[in-house]
Amino acid sequence: MAFESLSDRLTKAFKNITGKGKLTEKNMNDMLREVRMSLLEADVNYGVVKDFIARIKEKALGEEVLGSLNPGQMVVKIVHDEIVDLLGSEDAPINYKANGITTIMMVGLQGTGKTTASAKIANVMQKKQTRKPLLVACDVVRPAAIEQLKTLGKSIGVEVFSLGIETKALDTAKAAMEYAREHGYDTVLLDTAGRLHIDDALMQELADIKSFVQPDDILLTVDAMTGQDIVNVASSFHEQLQVSGLVVTKLDGDSRGGGVLSVRSITGVPVKFVGLGEKIEDLDVFHPSRMADRILGMGDIMSLVEQAQEKMDIEAANKTANRMMSGTFTLNDMLMQFQQMKKMGSLGNLMKMIPGMNQFAGQIDEAKADDKMKKNEAIILSMTPEERENPDIMRASRKNRVANGSGTTVADVNRLLNDYNKMKTMMKQMGNLSKGGMPAMGNM
Ligand code: GDP
Repeated sequence: MAFESLSDRLTKAFKNITGKGKLTEKNMNDMLREVRMSLLEADVNYGVVKDFIARIKEKALGEEVLGSLNPGQMVVKIVHDEIVDLLGSEDAPINYKANGITTIMMVGLQGTGKTTASAKIANVMQKKQTRKPLLVACDVVRPAAIEQLKTLGKSIGVEVFSLGIETKALDTAKAAMEYAREHGYDTVLLDTAGRLHIDDALMQELADIKSFVQPDDILLTVDAMTGQDIVNVASSFHEQLQVSGLVVTKLDGDSRGGGVLSVRSITGVPVKFVGLGEKIEDLDVFHPSRMADRILGMGDIMSLVEQAQEKMDIEAANKTANRMMSGTFTLNDMLMQFQQMKKMGSLGNLMKMIPGMNQFAGQIDEAKADDKMKKNEAIILSMTPEERENPDIMRASRKNRVANGSGTTVADVNRLLNDYNKMKTMMKQMGNLSKGGMPAMGNM
């Protein structure tokens, strides 16, 4: 995930100044040097870093900070606000038309993830923004782009309009607009052609489509893994097409994040979405302040809560929580917990969203945790309903059967039962405590 080492380094840089009652010009300068180095190492554009540090210095060395009660924390806040500023200050939502069809052109170089992003965005529009989107296959250059879009469209239940590779992109766009009007679509997303490099033919084709459809948004996909090159690509496209937003893809594969941090302040084009993986759901609406929180290791509780609301079955989770507290927690509840956790994504990513836990996220062995979770799930699924409700009946022969059925060992089954018993006891004690009772210390 992007910003990992930047986040670590910034947290360390701040450690030396937060909590200090008095801030000297020397330790402030040391901290600023550290911040500058961290940004450069994260591959942030040199000019951007220079201006950034100058602005912080000016604010941080002001009377107000030096004379404040906790100057260290004030400086962290200043850095935070400046990062938000770099990332774009305010959220940049899709420019939906108040009336009529909103048209969005997706543009970008080949392989940056344009087709994938088109489907991901259509999915967000349909599921979260109650729009009725139509995807249009105008990429007649990359072999298989049309088929890919059709497959993606089918998987999310969004119609894909195509006239095949024989029809010119502009003619497809014209026919698609007509089709959208006739069939009551309120949003049209055009997946246009890319090239390996920017060339005149591509730009002309895009300009022709633009001039015909008069798009409300032109979203450019840029690949985070190309680092600083994002800035060059974005500048060229912007110069010729006046791009209105960026979709930064593959942020999951870019550990530095410098391109994302530089592109807005150099091109003035806001980031609207970020791609975080190959799956359809791996797309986030971009919120500068939340991203700044994450970069500074302050967690991102807002996104965590949103994810929980979207992905978890809150009612079922509440029922489980009640059973946990009253001590009637069964293996079925434990199974449900595993399944809910899986839906929330990797443990490391979850921890990054919790304030203060960021620094531990990297210490988790994801593969090992995932493996254990899979084993535990298989074990419970191999049990009879009676065994899941009442694990006390698990004797040697039952354990053997379950181990065989789940492809695990008796030791694995014992470990799971042990974890279950510990959890059940602990939860019961917490339940008692919240009712005002005392925990039974002997059982701890
Ligand atoms: P296009 O040529 O720009 O239309 O690119 P595609 O949409 O075909 O994407 C190129 C490759 O990048 C595919 O293998 C995608 O699965 C992958 N991809 C797209 N977005 C992301 C992302 O956010 N993260 C990761 N890891 N892969 C992505």
